[in-house]
Amino acid sequence: MPSEVMVDVKGLVKQYGSFLAVKGVEFQVEKGEIFGLLGPNGAGKTTTIEMLVGLRKPDDGTAVLAGFDVKKQINQVKEVIGVQLQSTSLFELLKVEETLHLYASFYPSHVDIEQLIEDMLLTEKRNDRVKGLSGGQKQRLAIALALIHDPKIVFLDEPTTGLDPQARRTLWDIVLRLKDRGKTVILSTHYMDEAHVLCDRIGIMDQGELIALDTPTNLVKSLQSTSTVEFHLNNPPQEELFMKMEGVKEVSIKDTFVQLYTDELQMALTSLIHVATEHKLTIEDLQTRQATLEDVFIHMTGRRLRES
Ligand code: ATP
Repeated sequence: MPSEVMVDVKGLVKQYGSFLAVKGVEFQVEKGEIFGLLGPNGAGKTTTIEMLVGLRKPDDGTAVLAGFDVKKQINQVKEVIGVQLQSTSLFELLKVEETLHLYASFYPSHVDIEQLIEDMLLTEKRNDRVKGLSGGQKQRLAIALALIHDPKIVFLDEPTTGLDPQARRTLWDIVLRLKDRGKTVILSTHYMDEAHVLCDRIGIMDQGELIALDTPTNLVKSLQSTSTVEFHLNNPPQEELFMKMEGVKEVSIKDTFVQLYTDELQMALTSLIHVATEHKLTIEDLQTRQATLEDVFIHMTGRRLRES
């Protein structure tokens, strides 16, 4: 089946005063794809989404959604998109079902509300007031509201921020089911595990720029190292010490915390023990793990996605 471009973004720019928040972002999303914007706080993800959904006017560039130009055809764009923003304000005193009926009344046609309640796992809560819902249930209601007019493209801005692990996983299942139903999803997140599990392709954003764009697997492969060795040392070490080690491709050091990237785990571990013994370094909390999107980000920017 030929692919159909649902979102076409070219050279998008947004400036707040003298501050350039988004610097010429470009990407395309095909029908049925889940596309993720992954980046740390302040990377420009929300600003990008807000421009795509018509909430902020781009200073430059174009965005075409399902064939409609955001700058010139915003009313048509609004008919084909559903939006859940970080700050969706709900009417706290309304019940779940009442809220859905209210929003449905804003549109000429809407999906079956019974089915939507069921799909969003809100059946038991349908007669509860919004103010009594948990964070996860409120997010699921916010997504239900974004879906009420059966949009083609769904925007989810950091949908799981602040949720507990179980609520996050429930939401992941819901997002994956949207894809099964042929929806195109654009979501932003600063959780790399979320991006990896959900997204067909990921644009990594940093300081207003898209610094990488590919499938999660290819992004991790681009590191050319399959494993990461992490440990703390008793003293801040010198980078050169580890760069020369056999089997080590890259080194990242933050104070006493060291990360070594390698394709040859056994060789890297053996040389690490040698180096540590020779230089009288004490290794603590040694861990090995598979390389992740977080490593891709560290590799590209020298910083972590989330400061811990
Ligand atoms: P977060 O995960 O914190 O929402 P983000 O990647 O979505 O981050 P944005 O909210 O788009 O990032 O912000 C990008 C940059 O623009 C940040 O430095 C932010 O402080 C700045 N910014 C956002 N909105 C405004 C505004 N209305 N006026 C001035 N600066 C703004």
